[in-house]
Amino acid sequence: MGGAEAVVSYHCGTATVSDYVVGGRLRWEVSHGCGDGVELVCGRGELPADLRAAVLAQCGTFGVRFPAGDRVAVMRVLRGRGVPVGELRSVLAQGVTGTEAEMVLLAGQLAAAGVAVVVSRREDPDLPGVGGSQRRPTPP
Ligand SMILES: [Zn+2]
Repeated sequence: MGGAEAVVSYHCGTATVSDYVVGGRLRWEVSHGCGDGVELVCGRGELPADLRAAVLAQCGTFGVRFPAGDRVAVMRVLRGRGVPVGELRSVLAQGVTGTEAEMVLLAGQLAAAGVAVVVSRREDPDLPGVGGSQRRPTPP
């Protein structure tokens, strides 16, 4: 899932970075064409911070907001993802943002708990909860 790729400088040139969901878990990979072959680095879970930042910047920040009705089920999923009890209230109110793959994974976990959410692109990650942005990015 996902399929969006970011390009980062790497070794002697550039590499493509992507994250995606496989079997209900996050995976990521970095692919770099080098000399006589392709160098591939991959891992599980969330992307390393610098690579994640590149994916967010180039592929967009995505977000999930939680429906008002299913708080108990949502809280259970959030707790399962390691959200501290003290932050549950604010996370419930603000929603969660991340890479598209991270949000697809979260939406899948919520769906399994019977909570339907929509993954949508956030125009401006600095303004969580604001639908419209005054600064419109120019299309590529
Ligand atoms: Zn190289």
